[in-house]
Amino acid sequence: MSAETGNVPLVLIVSGPSGSGKSTLVQKILELPGTMPSISCTTRPRRATESSGKCYDFVSEAEFEAMVARGEFFEYARVFGKYSYGTPKKWLEESRKRGLDLVLEIDVQGAAQVKEKLPESVAIFILPPSREELERRLRGRGQDSDEEMARRLAKARDEIAAFGKYYDFCVVNDDVERAGREAQAIVTALRCSSTRRRDRVQKLLASFGGKN
Ligand code: 5GP
Repeated sequence: MSAETGNVPLVLIVSGPSGSGKSTLVQKILELPGTMPSISCTTRPRRATESSGKCYDFVSEAEFEAMVARGEFFEYARVFGKYSYGTPKKWLEESRKRGLDLVLEIDVQGAAQVKEKLPESVAIFILPPSREELERRLRGRGQDSDEEMARRLAKARDEIAAFGKYYDFCVVNDDVERAGREAQAIVTALRCSSTRRRDRVQKLLASFGGKN
């Protein structure tokens, strides 16, 4: 049960093209009490700025395949046709055990799988303000070759095209403070939805005694 609502915790999917600033907005959501992150496994090499177990659990191809064979992933996908990424089932179990809303930062292929298996999950798409701004941000990172840049922009286009299919909400990240408040507001509103407050209402009614 969720500590915040007394319900089964929310499963929140956050996706968006690389350069849309989704990691920053995920951090904003995680600032809300009652939330926890899902830590993905990936075969991508670790960047200098990353430590294992914080952003990702970095595993070898063989380890990843073994986890797939043991059915340990809730969803997994090959991203940019190069490296594998997956959400271990253990985070869903942990979120239910601890009563914390779970935040998954995954790509569109992953979002489609989660939505299929768990239709009550909620998907938020982070949109860059424009293509030019997205390219500027990607170039600003200075970590990608021209080839990689073209691949990221092409993937961004495909992801934006898939937006209408799986996503319940869309946040335009033109100003990180405002976009962060919007992302937090979405979670707050979900927690206040009448379906999620039903048990609470029943309990309150019961405390009045007599019949409903
Ligand atoms: P990066 O290598 O830049 O950290 O991530 C590349 C892409 O993989 C991003 O779009 C990110 O959201 C996505 N991703 C990260 N973890 C997962 C995961 O567990 N499953 C899926 N399907 N995608 C993931």
